[in-house]
Amino acid sequence: MLTGSCLCGAIKYEISGAVGPSLYCHCSMCRKWHGTAFRTRLAVPKRSFRFVCGEEMLTSYRSSADTVKTFCRVCGSPMVNSWDPDPDNYGLAMGTLDGDPGVRPSRHIFVGSKAPWYEIHDELPQHEEFP
Ligand SMILES: [Zn+2]
Ligand SMILES: [Zn+2]
Repeated sequence: MLTGSCLCGAIKYEISGAVGPSLYCHCSMCRKWHGTAFRTRLAVPKRSFRFVCGEEMLTSYRSSADTVKTFCRVCGSPMVNSWDPDPDNYGLAMGTLDGDPGVRPSRHIFVGSKAPWYEIHDELPQHEEFP
């Protein structure tokens, strides 16, 4: 069983079952959403994911026609996003996990719009946009 929470601890979740894959997204929307050089996204089947508490503290933002991002209304931690073309999975903000999911990010996407001040220092595949 994997667990995770937002920064303030109001929202907690648990995951049972297999997760993945994981990737780094460098698109400008993910950078803005997370306030970081890139977002680390873990695919989690919705059927395996459950909010333990604080679901009422979630607020959401439709960032594009097919994407809804959710986050804690108190501390701002990004939690999960839903992407309409993949209705069975959440995109989990991987940094909110407490433990080790046993999955490692396997590629970089939207490298074409990455932050100019950030250099990628690994050997993972890089895709200019969505592969
Ligand atoms: Zn919070
Ligand atoms: Zn992105």
